[in-house]
Amino acid sequence: MAENDVLLRVQNLKKHFPITGGLLGRQVGAVKAVDGISFEIKRGETLGLVGESGCGKSTAGRAILQLHKPTSGQVFFEDDDLTQVGAEELRMLRPRMQMIFQDPYATLNPRHSVGKIVGEPLIIHGVMKKGSTELKERVAELLEIVGMDPAYVRRFPHEFSGGQRQRIGIARALALNPDFIVCDEPISALDVSIQAQVVNLMQDLQEQLGLTYLFIAHDLSMVKHISHRIAVMYLGRIMELTDRNTLFDYPLHPYTQSLNSAVPMPNPRLERRRRRFILKGEPPSPANPPSGCVFHPRCPLTTEKCIVVVPDFREIHPGHLVACHLADDEGSSKIPEDTVLASVVD
Ligand code: SF4
Repeated sequence: MAENDVLLRVQNLKKHFPITGGLLGRQVGAVKAVDGISFEIKRGETLGLVGESGCGKSTAGRAILQLHKPTSGQVFFEDDDLTQVGAEELRMLRPRMQMIFQDPYATLNPRHSVGKIVGEPLIIHGVMKKGSTELKERVAELLEIVGMDPAYVRRFPHEFSGGQRQRIGIARALALNPDFIVCDEPISALDVSIQAQVVNLMQDLQEQLGLTYLFIAHDLSMVKHISHRIAVMYLGRIMELTDRNTLFDYPLHPYTQSLNSAVPMPNPRLERRRRRFILKGEPPSPANPPSGCVFHPRCPLTTEKCIVVVPDFREIHPGHLVACHLADDEGSSKIPEDTVLASVVD
């Protein structure tokens, strides 16, 4: 991974969905699914984007790829601002940015053979001709790259396991030689035993092909092994962003501390001592987010200021950004032991 070679830069990106009502269907509000997120991803890097379901992480992935038109903000892919480029320019850039979905079965056409599914992007983008030898060879090569037998080209999605279907989805995403892939919960629907295989495959592909990933997941254990850095999202905003080790060893935001406490430890002795910080209540609606810090109704450290003032997304240490008024070097944002609400073991 090149240290300063930024492939993607997201600046204050917002995606609000209008809520309409009344007889005239006027806009009466907005669901603030993504509400001002900023980050960079370097070429060859994996940025994990984690948060509870409904926090806006998948919408963020789609808004970055312009599959949802952003409400405001900028998305620079190298030097091109994707929010400003024309339709033709975006069409030219599309092959370089792909997406892998959570449920491969829902996104693979059940009536199409594996060969047709994997080769389709090449035909649509006019790279190769339907039925050509060149296309057949490329599809066979793509299946081999993802660890599948090229002899499967005539089979259909229902003939495969979940893990194999995800491999087919990955082969399709790779068809046009992308630089950047948004991986939208690609392992969430798979058995735990298969998840590691798919993560390993994606890491191998990253090394071989120099890919850059935005890896979206709903829990930290899923992004732990693949991510170089991790952004924690809550109610449309990023709460904390830092490198993987710092996030697991020194999480500063109370929300990250809570998510982190849910991740099992491989060492049985440490696992026995693990305490879980269980948050009160459910995340509020993004149609009516709380004032001040959006996390304040669930935070065990809430102060008067938190209820009124939106915390800045501040750099506490180089590369470690946190949106919390209390975050500092003194551990002021650390959830105290006496607020621990559950033990993992008796
Ligand atoms: Fe909790 Fe306040 Fe920090 Fe928000 S700003 S996370 S409410 S302490």
